[in-house]
Amino acid sequence: MSKKSIPNNINNLSQLLEDGLVMCDSFGSILLYNNLAKQYLGDNLKGKNICNFVPIDELKDLNKNNNDGIFSDQFSFQTEDVLKRSLVLKVKKIDEDLFSILLLDMTLQRNLEKVRRDFVANVSHELRSPLTSLVGFIETLLNGDVKDEKIQKKFLNIMDEEAKRMNRLIDDILSLSKVETEEHITPNTSISIINPIQYVISSIKERGLSKNHNLIFEDLRQNVNDPCFVIGDIDEINQVFVNLLENAIKYSFESTDVVVRIEQHIQEEVVISVINKGEGIPEKYLDRLTERFFRVDKARSRELGGTGLGLAIVKHILIKHRATMNVSSIINDKTTFSINFPLTNN
Ligand code: ADP
Repeated sequence: MSKKSIPNNINNLSQLLEDGLVMCDSFGSILLYNNLAKQYLGDNLKGKNICNFVPIDELKDLNKNNNDGIFSDQFSFQTEDVLKRSLVLKVKKIDEDLFSILLLDMTLQRNLEKVRRDFVANVSHELRSPLTSLVGFIETLLNGDVKDEKIQKKFLNIMDEEAKRMNRLIDDILSLSKVETEEHITPNTSISIINPIQYVISSIKERGLSKNHNLIFEDLRQNVNDPCFVIGDIDEINQVFVNLLENAIKYSFESTDVVVRIEQHIQEEVVISVINKGEGIPEKYLDRLTERFFRVDKARSRELGGTGLGLAIVKHILIKHRATMNVSSIINDKTTFSINFPLTNN
């Protein structure tokens, strides 16, 4: 390890920066790093080599590459953790045996660019079908070809459904683009996970359940009075359970139970499962469920009012909350969406 040490006031100053900062000796051994660098690269960096955390070959010989003028360029890389941050790196020589490496987080810009690109392609495709149907019915009615009032009413009802479908699509697209671009921003509030679950269950019950479903809440934790705190955004967590429960109800057989189950097997996390009984999901599709606009059966999803975006929204909210989701399904039997939420102390 390098003997060089950095004065304390530089360390304090580095914490004020709005970018990550790592300082290392000419061999790449890390002498100092600020909290943002810790967030980007991981904990316990001191004394370790920067090349263990940043896959950029030019950092292997800092003095030589600096003399060759290579560091007048900036470098970029993507972190390997689940957040896949896009970082831009700027290297500056401070003195003979001291280099500063600035880490700029470009994830938001990258996500915005990607969302904008995909947005145009997907949306125009998805909006075209209800729009084509609307235009067709409007033309037919305008031509005066349909005289029968009952048929006119029928057409108007279909048009109403299609317009509502377009509305839902637009709402979901806006939600998705928001959560997608902000997925790397950790929420700054701690909430009890039980509250949004109970809220969503009672609001769905209030709206009334179709097809004779029974919505059941099961708390299987040892201490059911434990509030179960997670770092989270309450509106987004609500959105997760609305989407999972509405799906569970939509894709269930008539007169079956939909169960929300809370379990805690280890101290650090809570598992919340939404279980329903229905046609199920073939195994080969399980990995694709969170892709935007993916549906196992497009016509059925459409008929049930789906947009194909619900689980994509869930996925991005869960990434933001450092939560993970597992799906298992038995055809014509039980489908389970389980989410593991990391717990915090308060
Ligand atoms: P949609 O608006 O089509 O419901 P989602 O993104 O919410 O879109 O879900 C994607 C697809 O996953 C659905 O179209 C459906 O095929 C499948 N799916 C989701 N939840 C369930 C479930 N509980 N049981 C069976 N299939 C499901």
